[in-house]
Order: sequence, then structure tokens, then C-alpha cells
Amino acid sequence: MKSPAQAAGYDVVVLGGGVAGCVLAARLSEDPGRSVCLVEAGPDYGARWQEWPAKVRDAHALPRDDVWERHAPMHRIRARVLGGSSCINGCWNTWGSEADHEEWVRAGGPRWSAAAMERHRLRAVEQMRLRTVPEREFSPWSRAALTAARELGYEEADMAAPGAPGYGTPLINALDGVRWNAAFAYLDAARSRPNLTILSGTSVDRLTVRAGRVQSVDVQVDARREVLTADTYLVACGAFGSPALLLRSGIGPADQLQKTGIRPEVDLPGVGANLTDQPGVFVPLAPTAELNAALAAQEASGELYVSRMLIRAASELCPEGSWDLHILPSAGDPLFGSLPPGEYEAGISAFLMKPASRGRVRLRSADPAEAPEIDPGFLSDPGGRDIAVLRSGLEIVERLASSAALKSLAAHGPGRAAHELSDEELRSRLGTYWHPVGTCAMGPDDDPLAVVDGEARVRGVANLRVVDASVLPTVPAANTQLPVLAAAELLAEALRD
Ligand SMILES: Cc1cc2nc3c(=O)[nH]c(=O)nc-3n(C[C@H](O)[C@H](O)[C@H](O)COP(=O)(O)OP(=O)(O)OC[C@H]3O[C@@H](n4cnc5c(N)ncnc54)[C@H](O)[C@@H]3O)c2cc1C
Repeated sequence: MKSPAQAAGYDVVVLGGGVAGCVLAARLSEDPGRSVCLVEAGPDYGARWQEWPAKVRDAHALPRDDVWERHAPMHRIRARVLGGSSCINGCWNTWGSEADHEEWVRAGGPRWSAAAMERHRLRAVEQMRLRTVPEREFSPWSRAALTAARELGYEEADMAAPGAPGYGTPLINALDGVRWNAAFAYLDAARSRPNLTILSGTSVDRLTVRAGRVQSVDVQVDARREVLTADTYLVACGAFGSPALLLRSGIGPADQLQKTGIRPEVDLPGVGANLTDQPGVFVPLAPTAELNAALAAQEASGELYVSRMLIRAASELCPEGSWDLHILPSAGDPLFGSLPPGEYEAGISAFLMKPASRGRVRLRSADPAEAPEIDPGFLSDPGGRDIAVLRSGLEIVERLASSAALKSLAAHGPGRAAHELSDEELRSRLGTYWHPVGTCAMGPDDDPLAVVDGEARVRGVANLRVVDASVLPTVPAANTQLPVLAAAELLAEALRD
């Protein structure tokens, strides 16, 4: 690693080395005439992927070592490592609907249409080496769930492209059990470029903004403060980290900043607002002895993955042709806790893909070491639409669990079906799909909550852009890794032009 002192005066600094940051650093350093510095708070485990920690490489489970907060509630989990949340995530890649693109086009212009984004999506698919699920990775539960989806009348569809509701399998960024993260996929071939500097273990504290321009950025390396300068500053700290960095830099709602003791530089009320994530409820079922034995055999062969299929389903409130639910059967080791050897957790989740509710990210103080306040706002929409859609999803879960294909493998537990539970009971069982977006949302000039324009330029600051999940103004009806990769490919191209 070069020292920051050596590394003053770049053409571009990319702040945050997660999914979007890796794309930006790789694509922008393709031009040998452009010096690029990528800054990441977490560790860089090096150029040889085989030497990364086994837990980070293992695609069978979600690791929790390289995260910002070890003991935080589920919805706050986010990675702190080069490669970002692609190092700790479920390796699933799906895509949203035409309706999602229509929302993004209204916010950012025609480059966000499904047709215009197609080549960026395909480029990301290729670079990440995304692949279809190999036959051997289907557990008996996933296989039976494919049959059950057909039994319920769903048609097969491509889950990683725009299309219609239906069932299918995601594309996977896992190669023979290795979680192929964005650092492997994008940085490994770029690391030897003399014009690319990677500063790991380096936290970004704040930008210094004067007269509508970023002058420099303060970073911490081993409790030592350093200052970096560049022509262009790209913020890619993720849906929680990016708004927090802007706020610490005086870019955000002026009244809120003053209360935190930060001098406002640019009054942008949308920074930290509009947090959108996809909550869900897991419905446990009791595996038969036969299913447990089959899962044990699958585990012994090294091929047990908790989930390998999904249904894109539509509630009664969903616009025609689109979907607002993911129905996700799973079976394997529990996500949290453990079971005795030979016993597994089986069940089906319903995730709300197009929630109306909005949360927010706010600073607790100006101190960069203090984690921001993150309120996901789950099921908080005043009209109660989200809970109605969730109930509709849980009815589909009930029908799927009662299908001939699945009910022979796992039985309902005692008590009421999940869709019949009270609102309070449902709230207490809420989990997340971990797809937060929207906290530095792009939008048109007349949108008072827009933080960036369609090319991710921060309003009121000439040489600053935000490029990551936080600029997506609405969450797509999809897992967000592939959409963020494609958006970063798109915006890297806009920067190169
Ligand atoms: C547990 C989990 C499971 C998930 N599963 C899936 C899945 O299966 N499929 C899917 O499509 N999506 C999944 N996601 C979501 C997906 O990983 C994210 O959409 C994606 O990583 C967002 O990319 P990003 O670049 O916006 O942020 P990130 O990838 O989170 O990157 C942000 C980076 O910025 C760094 N950073 C933040 N603040 C600072 C600072 N002050 N200084 C320096 N660096 C900083 C962070 O350390 C991090 O490396 C999952 C997410 C989580 C947390």
C-alpha cells in the first residue's frame, strides 16, 4: 500500500471501496493518463484471491467479521472491507421490472431506461463472472420449490433481466463455492496499473467544501490524519456511509446540520432522507426426517446452499405486468444461531420489493467514529399499503407451503398462518433483504429532495459525485448488487466521456 502522503493530487479519488467503488476504480484507471486513488476503511486482503480469509471466500454462508458494527440490529449490517458488501452477501443477482426503470428515467433521464442500461447490466454480468445455478447446487427443497411454483401456475422467467412475474433461479457470483466479490472481479486485473493507488485501512472523515467545490478530503490512517486532494471526488460509501459523509462535510439539511454543530455548506434536504429497504417475514416449517437426511447428504457433498430459487410475485396492489414480492424458499443451516447436527431450518420468506415506507440516515454527532442513526422506517407508510402487500405475500407463502411438492417435505407448525397474524406480530417477525438505497437520491432540478442529477453530480458542489446504492431514487424489485454494479458501470462511462 502506498502512503497517502505519497499520494497527493490525483485526478480522481474514489471514497469507499465497495461494489460501486471497485467498478469506478477499475474502469476509470483503464485510461493510463488518469490517476485514480481508491480509499477503503476496511482491510484489503491482497491481490491473490486464494489468500483471502476462508470465511470471506466461502459462498455457503454470510460472514460477519468485516463489518462496521459487530452487534448491531440486522438492518444495519454493512461490510467494511475492500469489495464492500459483495464480500458478505448472499451472491444472488436478479433484476427489476420495466416500472423500476420508468421511475429512474423520471429521476435521471433516458440513460436509466431498461434498454439503455442493458449493455451496462451485461458488462457487469460478464465482469463478475455471474453464472446460472449448477444442477448439483439445488437441494431437494429448492428442487421441490421449482415444482411447487409450477403447481401454483407461475411461469418460468429470467430472474436477472427485466421481464414479467414468474419463477426461476438467480445468477450467482459464486464459483465452485467461492464468493466472487467485486474486488476479485474488478480490481485484481487493475492492481498492477501504475496510475491506480489503493489505500485500505483508511477511513474518510470529511470533505472540505468551499465556494461550491471540494478542496480536499480528510482521512484517518492508523489514528493519523492525512489530507488527499483531487480534481474529482467520487463518494461510494454505500447507502448508509455516503449520506453520513456528506452530512459530516456540511452537505445536507441546513437546520439538522446546525443542530449537530456542523457548518452548512450546501443546503440539501434530501441527504439521508428517502432510505428505502426491503423488509420480509420468514415462515418456518418443520422439515421431515426425510428432508433432514437429504439436506445432510447434500451438506456432506459440500453443495448445500440455503436458497437457489425464487418467485417474482404480484400482490393485488401491484401494477399490471410488474411484481412487488419475492417469495423465497430456503432450507439449510439457520442464518442466526445453530441446530443440532443433522437438523436444518426450512421455510419460505416473503419480501416486500417495492415498499412505500421511507426511513432515514442521520448523524448523532459530527464525530466520524460515531455510527449514524439508521431508521429503516419499515412498514411506516401512513396508508398501510406495505403491510397489506406483505400479507398478500404471506398468503402466497401459505399456498406454496401447502403444495403437493413442498408439503411432503415440511409441515406447518402449530398456530395461525403468518398472513393471519396481527400487525404487531408481523412487525415483531420482520427481517430485511439488506438492500438499502435512496439516501442521496438522483432527481430532476425541480425535486427539492434530489441530491444528485442523472449523472450523479451533487447539486451545488462542482467536482463531487455520489456513485453507489444511495443514488437509486427507488429500490428496484430486485436484489440490489447487480443494479448497483450496472449503475456504477453507467456512471463510470459518463465520467470517462
Ligand atoms: C448481509 C447482506 C447480504 C446481501 N445479499 C445480497 C445478495 O445476495 N444479492 C444482492 O444483489 N445484494 C445483496 N446485498 C446488497 C448488496 O451487497 C449491496 O446492494 C451492494 O453492496 C451496494 O454497493 P455499494 O457500493 O453501494 O455499497 P457497499 O458494497 O456496502 O460498499 C461501501 C463501501 O464503502 C466503505 N466505506 C463506508 N464508509 C467509509 C468511510 N467513511 N471511509 C472509507 N470507506 C468507507 C465500506 O467499508 C464499504 O466497503 C446484501 C447486503 C448485505 C449487507
